[in-house]
Amino acid sequence: MVRAGFGSPHKPARSNDKNEEQLIVKQGKLLYAGKAKSVFVTDSRNKLIVEFRDDITAFDGGKKDVLAGKGSDNASVSAFFFDLLEKNGIKTHFVKMLDPKHMVVERLTMIPLEVIVRNLAAGSMVRNYPIKEGTKLNPPVIVIDFKDDSRHDPMLNDDLIFALKLATPQELQKIKKIALKVNSVLSAFLAKQGITLVDFKLEFGRKQRTICLGDEISMDSMRLWDKKTGVSLDKDVYRFEKGDVMQTYNSVTKRITAKSNVGKKSPKKSQKALKNQKK
Ligand code: C5P
Repeated sequence: MVRAGFGSPHKPARSNDKNEEQLIVKQGKLLYAGKAKSVFVTDSRNKLIVEFRDDITAFDGGKKDVLAGKGSDNASVSAFFFDLLEKNGIKTHFVKMLDPKHMVVERLTMIPLEVIVRNLAAGSMVRNYPIKEGTKLNPPVIVIDFKDDSRHDPMLNDDLIFALKLATPQELQKIKKIALKVNSVLSAFLAKQGITLVDFKLEFGRKQRTICLGDEISMDSMRLWDKKTGVSLDKDVYRFEKGDVMQTYNSVTKRITAKSNVGKKSPKKSQKALKNQKK
């Protein structure tokens, strides 16, 4: 039996905060194990526990390692961002941290889409299309892939999403709107820490009829560049052996979750900040 709230500075910005505070969650059976996270059922029907493991993989699982401390870094950054997004009116599955690697989340019915938002051209966009790395994309480019490892996550378009009945037009519109809002909030926040949000991937689920942000938002799912040096502060360090992965993850985690950043709402002029960033 684990008492929720232990060892975490991150508290959800929810109206039922008080009840959540008292929430006691007992970890049950493994529901699903992905490449870097495991999901467990709990004694509460609507809550799951996500374990952020120290596994790191790249290139469709072709490169694999275990790096001590990587799971807790990704968990802290995800908790921090979910909390920040909740404070900015975005619904997420985050409830609270149990300990540095275990997060209590709302149970969602996941939608098998990988929603990628790009502010600068990088990664597969540069590999697949005639565009130079670092080219500013204004407005940001949204790319949606089908989350299916056996098919290597092929790219979708709106018609395919509807034909495959993955989401309704209303849901897709909502998903894109939330993705762009997440981009504004995180870009503005990271810019203040001297970090450029190049691109990132989100996953969504349904809680009854409400679309909620699920999964994680971490160095594994974002591309972050230091504003001054242009140095990578994310999984590209692991993918392309650009340096010491854990040193990078530890230092960017500290930069993002620093005490002085806790409890902050994103500045009102986040849109303006984003525009300036793109000039
Ligand atoms: O590889 P690509 O350039 O398409 O990735 C865009 C962004 O989405 C990157 O930040 C990458 O880390 C993230 N991504 C992810 N999981 C995937 C595919 C991409 O987190 N399966």
